[in-house]
Amino acid sequence: MDDRTFRNAMGKFATGVTVVTTEFQGEVKGMTANAFMSVSLDPKLVVVSIGHKARMHDIVKQTGKFAVNLLTRDQEDLSRLFAGQLKEERDVAFEWVDGHPILPDAMANVLCRVHSTYVAGDHTLYFGEVTHIVMKDEPSDPLLFFEGKYRSIGQ
Ligand code: FAD
Repeated sequence: MDDRTFRNAMGKFATGVTVVTTEFQGEVKGMTANAFMSVSLDPKLVVVSIGHKARMHDIVKQTGKFAVNLLTRDQEDLSRLFAGQLKEERDVAFEWVDGHPILPDAMANVLCRVHSTYVAGDHTLYFGEVTHIVMKDEPSDPLLFFEGKYRSIGQ
């Protein structure tokens, strides 16, 4: 099977969009990821899959912690920025909670310490034990990703 067929088929699975953030050597690092899911209630675990070519892969290995910021429909530009798809650099204002840099105005921020890892092909699954959650007070719609395009509910 060729890569295009695999990618096209996986693109039929609609997802939300997250930005994984962590702090390393005094700098904040973010990476857009949609390979995220909830895993376990007891203990509370989530997982994010990070490609071996991504700088974030080695950084999370060293920091041992990360936050998953669940984006709203109004944060498509942040998704593009942290996927390296914007030409210009931008200053992003992060908030700090429990030593984690998080994106304000996300639907939720899921703060984790690395619980375990599993190398799967050219990605590593980072399982995170959830240490804290920040939730947005006002309801908002999620940013969605489907067939390689950003969407929002009803569009
Ligand atoms: P870098 O190239 O180091 O950084 C990415 C961009 O973020 C750069 O432009 C950088 O300037 C910017 N940036 C980083 N930190 C800051 C900061 N503090 N302030 C301002 N800008 C900053 N890859 C996966 O491995 N797993 C996935 O699940 C996944 N899902 C994706 C979903 C979508 C919708 C998209 C568009 C991409 C996805 N990717 C995923 C690809 C991934 O986001 C990119 O390949 C990413 O650029 C690679 O990460 P990196 O750590 O090498 O990033």
